[in-house]
Amino acid sequence: MPLMTTAPITQDVHTIPRKLPEGGKINIIGLTRDQLRAALIAAGCPEKQAKMRVGQIWQWVYFFGLRDFAEMTNLSKDFRALLAEKFELVLPEVVTRQISEDGTRKYLVRIQGGHEVEVVYIPETDRGTLCISSQVGCTLTCSFCHTGTQKLVRNLTPAEIVGQVMLARDDLDEWPVKGASNADPAARLVSNIVLMGMGEPLYNFENVRDAMHIVMDGEGIALGRRRITLSTSGVVPEIARTAREIGCLLAVSFHATTDEVRDVLVPINKKWNIATLLDALRDYPGLSNSERITFEYVMLDGVNDSKEDAYRLIELLRGIPAKVNLIPFNEWPGAPYKRSSGNRIHAFADIINAAGYASPIRKPRGEDIMAACGQLKSATERARKSRKEIEAEAGLGG
Ligand code: SAH
Ligand code: SF4
Repeated sequence: MPLMTTAPITQDVHTIPRKLPEGGKINIIGLTRDQLRAALIAAGCPEKQAKMRVGQIWQWVYFFGLRDFAEMTNLSKDFRALLAEKFELVLPEVVTRQISEDGTRKYLVRIQGGHEVEVVYIPETDRGTLCISSQVGCTLTCSFCHTGTQKLVRNLTPAEIVGQVMLARDDLDEWPVKGASNADPAARLVSNIVLMGMGEPLYNFENVRDAMHIVMDGEGIALGRRRITLSTSGVVPEIARTAREIGCLLAVSFHATTDEVRDVLVPINKKWNIATLLDALRDYPGLSNSERITFEYVMLDGVNDSKEDAYRLIELLRGIPAKVNLIPFNEWPGAPYKRSSGNRIHAFADIINAAGYASPIRKPRGEDIMAACGQLKSATERARKSRKEIEAEAGLGG
């Protein structure tokens, strides 16, 4: 048995609720159309007009990227004043932006309560992928993942999730100018979104779902469901719901071919093991060759990278339209693993490939700025507050 650290399994959903501002303005960003409509009516907008106003505001906010009510010229002056009085348009704040030698951009973003998350933009020749976070930290403790070592966890709100997409579009200067139509998504700088940053998206299901509905809405940012990939460590009960309620593509952090090894690498496997997970994936509706499930497989030297592993993986995938993303392990300070050798990774890829599955080897991006998969861990951690302080801030403390 190779040397591995045993990661403790923590409880599933222990997140700290956010303290809502009292009597403050309502942030429009992150509200669903229905929520926005209700909020407008509560603020005094006549019910008969509410639907139309939602449409107008929606277009300014999500199509043109406007942040100032005064510029929403098709709304009456009075209505603009009402909006300014009762509402706001607030994104998470970009604290730092680093640009890697390879063009990858990493944003450190501050959210309410002073917590921080990371967002990564990865330009490629045929697409531009934005990797967004769903939680501060992660309650799961995958032993190879830097985020998993961060204790502090809070679910991001829909505003904070959509906000990551919007702030990247701000930085890349990608909002359409007035009079222009929405660019074909394929030609955009941010053409794809992956929920592969910090956190387990399926432990923050409703917020992720609402945020993705905003991103997909055809009158706003309008990125189609097939341009969004949600990555999960394997929260089985939420997988069918993801298909039903979001409809995006799915990626699974698989990483091992026996329960014994997966229990250590991805401890949620103790709750839903490989067989249970594969059953859920087989049932993922809409499964066809054009909507394959991505199996993420991190290559760890001497742990999960043998030929036997490759053959076992093929057996496990049988009957599932799948693609295997081989991710060379990205090291981080204190990591208990080493990256598999290039030869090993290629030999593994060849076996998977010969069985008819695409098995690209992911090129680590933005390593010089610690933006690669699994290296994300915000500065919040470096100046970590005590649990007490955090709870007090969240309104729980006594
Ligand atoms: N929590 C979700 C999504 C975030 S992790 C999940 O686990 O799927 C995004 C991807 O990065 C996952 O496949 C994860 O296993 C991988 N990853 C984590 N740490 C890594 C590391 N150090 N090197 C390479 N990939 C890593
Ligand atoms: Fe959480 Fe995903 Fe990292 Fe596991 S790999 S600790 S689920 S972010």
